[in-house]
Amino acid sequence: LIKEDYNKKISFYDKKFLVTALREKRYTSEFEVALSKRQFKMYLQAQVTPNGNVCGAEALVRWIHPESGLIPPYEFISVFEKSGLIHKLDLFIWEEAAKKLAEWKKEGRDDLHISVNISTKDFQHLDLFATFTNLVRKYGISPQKLKLEITESSMMLDLEKQLLLIDKLQNFGFDIEIDDFGSGYSSLNMLKSIHANVLKLDMGFLRNIKEVDALRAKDILKSTVNLAKVLKMTVITEGVETLDQVEFLTQAGSDYFQGYYFAKPISVGDFEEKFLKQ
Ligand code: C2E
Ligand code: MG
Ligand code: MG
Ligand code: MG
Repeated sequence: LIKEDYNKKISFYDKKFLVTALREKRYTSEFEVALSKRQFKMYLQAQVTPNGNVCGAEALVRWIHPESGLIPPYEFISVFEKSGLIHKLDLFIWEEAAKKLAEWKKEGRDDLHISVNISTKDFQHLDLFATFTNLVRKYGISPQKLKLEITESSMMLDLEKQLLLIDKLQNFGFDIEIDDFGSGYSSLNMLKSIHANVLKLDMGFLRNIKEVDALRAKDILKSTVNLAKVLKMTVITEGVETLDQVEFLTQAGSDYFQGYYFAKPISVGDFEEKFLKQ
């Protein structure tokens, strides 16, 4: 009986592994065509002030696959990171963001910014200083409007080199945002060495929380916002899903919000329809 269970387990894992491996292979082989056929789309999720006025958006990629439909990033980002393709995808999304910012500027909406995600692998494959400075020059936009989201994992390889890069980008006028603080891959270590401009405090921290831990969790959030303020950072609370969270974090001092409570990531067309048409 034990042996049988063991075999079952093995075949379960084998199957899962096989499915993943096949998917990786398929995605990787489809990448170039997908990119050239513009199957990757920049979606936008609004970032708002405490009273709900939109001040910008985060660019989040979606793969609109001809057979599978909309594929979310958690299914393919890590695959493209592994196969070394992610930087091509990111370059595409960053350019889409810059293009959109130039368009908004022409329409008199240069109050809006777009935050883009930078993969850990991008730090190894790209000259990020040249890439971002060329991009804002090409599209005639202010570096202030293209915000750069990074996580701690990007800093792990060759910290000294990355710190210099961040410093150069900031001197040029870019804002650096620490993504996923509090529930993802960003910790106090990150705050110690990187003088980032923005802290993105992730409400994933509150998901599946036990009743007894709720007060404690609130104290931690309040202190984290304070910590960011002491370090002169702007705070964006991300992943807000309830009015309760918005009220509490506004009181705690969060400057901006991003989350399903206000808006989900949507296509650029829908975003403009919803937020920019009066
Ligand atoms: P992220 O940068 O932390 O983006 C925020 C994620 O939280 C998004 O997931 C967003 O849809 C989700 N989210 C926003 N509000 C809420 C909420 O109220 N509740 C919950 N439960 N979730 C919320 P998404 O779009 O699936 O992206 C996942 C991750 O994939 C991103 O996390 C980012 O790390 C990565 N990613 C997305 N687009 C890109 C890209 O263009 N380039 C790179 N390198 N990574 C990307
Ligand atoms: Mg992000
Ligand atoms: Mg995040
Ligand atoms: Mg995240």
